Amino acid sequence: PFGVWENRGEDEDGMPLVAKFPNGKPFGPQYDNEEEIEIIRDIGHGRYGQVQQAKVGDNFIAIKKFSPYDRHSFTNELMIMKEKQDTNLLCLLGYIDNPVNNQLWLLTEYMPLGNMSEYLRTHTLTIPQSLHLLSTFISGVCYLHSEPQPVAHRDIKTRNVLMSDHRTAKLADFGLALLLDYGPGGALNEKAAPPTQVGTARYMAPEVLEGSMFYREAEAHMRIDVYASSLVMWEVMWRTQLDQRDIVPPYFLPFERQIPGNPSACEMQALVAVEKQRPELRPNWANHSVFNKLEITLTESWDNDENARLSSKTIQARIIPLLSNESDSEVSV
Ligand code: ADP
Ligand code: MG
Ligand code: MG
Repeated sequence: PFGVWENRGEDEDGMPLVAKFPNGKPFGPQYDNEEEIEIIRDIGHGRYGQVQQAKVGDNFIAIKKFSPYDRHSFTNELMIMKEKQDTNLLCLLGYIDNPVNNQLWLLTEYMPLGNMSEYLRTHTLTIPQSLHLLSTFISGVCYLHSEPQPVAHRDIKTRNVLMSDHRTAKLADFGLALLLDYGPGGALNEKAAPPTQVGTARYMAPEVLEGSMFYREAEAHMRIDVYASSLVMWEVMWRTQLDQRDIVPPYFLPFERQIPGNPSACEMQALVAVEKQRPELRPNWANHSVFNKLEITLTESWDNDENARLSSKTIQARIIPLLSNESDSEVSV
């Protein structure tokens, strides 16, 4: 379903740019094939590459540049983004795969408010804003998990959730995502799911930390995403102001006060799987008409027993009705 477009432009080293854009998804109404990509600034750094803001014609885009050593995640991320397109997933605009100068670029829509972790560190939320963020976030997860081609993200965390405006979250970074190609009974074929621990230790589910998960079962991968999603939900809830007198505590990553920095899977295993600790619940949630419901959903999503966890679909079904109960008039940032 993807069209091919050949750009006759050159990069700063005089190398030809070869760009391929999805059919019907141009950069914008004034999009012109001849337009050059103008790099504006660095917006993110990962383990293997960098993300930059750029301009094509009048439109801002983001470019994720992969190192040639990371072609595997480039190919995987590209394949997943082509397969799964939704308003609550970061949108792919095109890519550049130029073997001549090892250019491996994913071109995506630009998210002006950056990642959710940085956003929550610097902003508190009103209840309506919080509910919209929770609902758009979980809708992205839900769509990813849905038929006909379910996908497990495997690295859900607030750094991989981007924000297009103050109430809209979009899931991003599909470098580790896994197509759940399963046969009868939900069994994944052997090559599809090698039994290795992937993701970010801080957000790993107890069964991943313990090495006891059923890698061959498609559902097992989605339950891991649900556990990580519950930690994202906790971060959003933690930074929500429940009423005028409520003093919102400072932002923390999940378990940051127990283990700051960059915890190893071993440290996280002791905390999450052995001691069975979970992030702190704020005392005023239990007495609040909306947040008590969210708190129940949260604790049912991070259950130590993976089979007792809610599905992303159930979480979504519980959050959407809460949206209509809350008046939107008090939104402010
Ligand atoms: P990595 O695989 O290296 O973790 P990500 O895709 O997660 O790369 O991007 C790293 C960071 O770059 C994100 O946490 C975010 O801050 C920023 N970023 C990535 N894509 C965009 C985008 N489309 N718009 C704005 N910021 C982005
Ligand atoms: Mg990332
Ligand atoms: Mg990544």
